[in-house]
Amino acid sequence: MLSGRRFRVEFTDEQAEFAERIGSVSRAVWNTGLAQRREYRRRGAWINYREQAHELVDAKEEHAWLKEVPGHCLQQALIDLDEACRRHGTFRVRWRSTRRWAPSFRFPEGSKMAVEKLNRRTWRVKLPKLGYVKFRGSRSLDGETIRSATVSRDGGRWFVSFLVDDLMTTPEEHLVPGSAVGVDRGVAVAVATSDGDLIDRQFVTAGERRRTVVLQRKLSHTAKNSKNRTKIKAALAKLRTAERHRREDFCAQTAHRLAHANAAVVYEDLKTKQMTRRAKPVEDPDHPGHFLPNGAGSKSGLNRSILGKGWYRFEQSLTSVARYTGTRVVKVPAAFTSQRCSVCRHVDPKSRESQAVFRCIHCLRPAEHADVNAAKNILAAGLAVTACREAATPASVAVTSTQEPAGNREELLLQPV
Ligand SMILES: [Zn+2]
Repeated sequence: MLSGRRFRVEFTDEQAEFAERIGSVSRAVWNTGLAQRREYRRRGAWINYREQAHELVDAKEEHAWLKEVPGHCLQQALIDLDEACRRHGTFRVRWRSTRRWAPSFRFPEGSKMAVEKLNRRTWRVKLPKLGYVKFRGSRSLDGETIRSATVSRDGGRWFVSFLVDDLMTTPEEHLVPGSAVGVDRGVAVAVATSDGDLIDRQFVTAGERRRTVVLQRKLSHTAKNSKNRTKIKAALAKLRTAERHRREDFCAQTAHRLAHANAAVVYEDLKTKQMTRRAKPVEDPDHPGHFLPNGAGSKSGLNRSILGKGWYRFEQSLTSVARYTGTRVVKVPAAFTSQRCSVCRHVDPKSRESQAVFRCIHCLRPAEHADVNAAKNILAAGLAVTACREAATPASVAVTSTQEPAGNREELLLQPV
């Protein structure tokens, strides 16, 4: 199975400088290639990877600086550009700017890369033109075949990511056959399961939050391009990186726990991207050019909470670990899961007393945590889907008839905790 392995690189000063240069040359190749593609599209024509690669060979004769860096990385940039344009459309693909794009480049020929262990902590790999690159061997690469290596910078640190084939296969059957769990992802609690577990973690401490506010205030008083500004920005980036790492850890650990214990994991198909759109401005009909309150503040707060829990990251972690455990991952439409009673199936928004409490107004059973109730509904929906998969109509068709009224779930999420 193909998998990724990421290691912290320990470059020498010259290597770091050279890596920075490879990054900027690949960026130039990407931007030139994109400009050319857009130019062709405006005239109603196309240019593909093959032609661009030929032109790159010609350009190398003219510009010596293109020849200094590994040619494979530049070809790879053009291949990536080709794929991005096919997938998203030539005019939607972004330019790579020095400010918004962190340097990253790929060496495609993994089979020719020699990786060796130097001591308990350090490994090294020989990369074209960069020479021997040391990295921290935080896990063993023994018995794995390397397909490619990507070098990238994240803040001030360099990393190498290997695409490896670990020669494992997905098991035919899960270790605990027949087990299944429903998962509700929420804002107040990150993950609630149908077994009644509430899994959550704070990613930022109170002290870090205070420090962020102080730093942001300081930042607003600094002069542009000043040394002080750079320093404060670096400190802010460090705080954000710590938060991101904790979130990634949380998602990976939760996914690991759920996938190892269950042969099927069901979760709601939430359109995270649509849900986190910005609130539309509402123009005041009496005063053209003026705008009415549109709830943008609370909407952006909700967006932050959704993105802050790493819902999408969790999906990715789950599908990734499911390949190793043989767990079936099932997505079900998010219709009425938060308003339906998991015992008598009665649907009423009034049953949801608050963000946390679900008290059925129909069957008068004891109150339950609202997210656990939702997780039970999700599990039931998932089991129904897997049971009649053969007869199932396409998901998009099935969704529309029972779709939860627009805005409902958001309104519920917005209620005070
Ligand atoms: Zn009920």
